Amino acid sequence: MITSPDSPDLDALCARLAEMAVELDRQPRWPAQQLRLCGEYGVFEWFIEPRWGGQDWNEEQLARGYHALAAACITTTFIITQRTGACKRIAGCENEALKPRLLPKLASGETFATVGISHLTTSRQHLGKPVLAAQTIPGGFRLNGMSPWVTGGAAADTIVLAATLVTGLSEAGYSSVTDEQLLLAVPTDLPGISVAEPLPLIGVEASSTGPVHLRDVEVSDEWLIAGPMRHVMASGVGAGTGSYETSTLAIGLAKAAIDFMADEATRRADLEQPMTALLSEHDQLFEELLAAVAAGDSPAHRQASGHRPKGGPSPPSKESLRQRANSLALRATQASLAAAKGSGYVVGHPAGRWCREALFFLVWSCPQPVAAANMCELAGILD
Ligand SMILES: Cc1cc2nc3c(=O)[nH]c(=O)nc-3n(C[C@H](O)[C@H](O)[C@H](O)COP(=O)(O)OP(=O)(O)OC[C@H]3O[C@@H](n4cnc5c(N)ncnc54)[C@H](O)[C@@H]3O)c2cc1C
Repeated sequence: MITSPDSPDLDALCARLAEMAVELDRQPRWPAQQLRLCGEYGVFEWFIEPRWGGQDWNEEQLARGYHALAAACITTTFIITQRTGACKRIAGCENEALKPRLLPKLASGETFATVGISHLTTSRQHLGKPVLAAQTIPGGFRLNGMSPWVTGGAAADTIVLAATLVTGLSEAGYSSVTDEQLLLAVPTDLPGISVAEPLPLIGVEASSTGPVHLRDVEVSDEWLIAGPMRHVMASGVGAGTGSYETSTLAIGLAKAAIDFMADEATRRADLEQPMTALLSEHDQLFEELLAAVAAGDSPAHRQASGHRPKGGPSPPSKESLRQRANSLALRATQASLAAAKGSGYVVGHPAGRWCREALFFLVWSCPQPVAAANMCELAGILD
């Protein structure tokens, strides 16, 4: 059982996940075994309050835990972030009846939940019309449309879905779109829900990600998390786009690649200089991230953990950290490939996989300013 990021059990779990990551990439299928192991080690408890059976780690502990897991297996860790996103939205909502119903089984790993929310944040924003529409019906809402990106939809008992409120909804469409949105914890066994075949992906393919379609799905009020309201994604608690979580995973992936270079460097002096430079950039960035998450932690959490915020300059913004984390992940993984040479280009070598996985951070929950900054860096335009 892992009860702190310093636990030797975290090292043991990570060693097993890293070992299994090779096969997971070669034969991408849902990592049920990896997730079961995480459940047995208590990983799902980290994110949930004790009253629901969790350990309620503070933000700094979570960042350290995520960093270690990401260095071991980015696919499993990414799935855990989507699961956690759903848990946070449920735990942070005002629908008190929903919490005892869903959270204890999520904390123990008995059930799985995920999110389909990006169509209100980073996906389909240019279309100007909702992809998932909700109409008010007596006692609840009727949903029609699709959620374009849902990780682990087929494995999920619950999907936290975001929808836009419309009026006059029928199979032919709707008469008008309101500026209100809602979030629902939708049970996947409701009639009218179909999880599409997972998309073929260039990395994290075993995450089993794809659209979920909804046709006249009637969801009662009891599953309501928030809304209908304007800017529902800004309400309550939950990881936002460009959050520290996504940056932590990118930095963790970079660390795996740098560790590989460090091991090679013990036999190859020419690797010492680039490895040391990347390692020092990693350490600095991770230190800044830990300071930033600790600064944002609740006073109660800080008191419980004994954490005292350090003095000094104010922490960098979430977006600047994410941009630097993306950049480091791309450069460190490609440096590891260069160090691994042709052997690294052969399927099965981790360096090639890390390079593909680093590309994921250019597109996953990536706010437009971060994507723009990464593109400028790639274009050689310095600010
Ligand atoms: C592997 C993976 C797993 C994911 N898992 C989840 C998940 O579990 N839950 C979740 O909520 N989200 C998830 N996401 C979604 C993710 O966070 C982003 O929202 C998503 O990557 C955005 O990509 P998009 O193609 O939908 O973007 P869009 O902005 O919809 O772009 C799609 C296409 O539209 C065109 N386009 C874009 N902008 C414009 C414009 N301004 N004008 C004209 N054309 C334009 C471009 O051709 C672009 O390729 C996942 C994404 C990936 C890749």
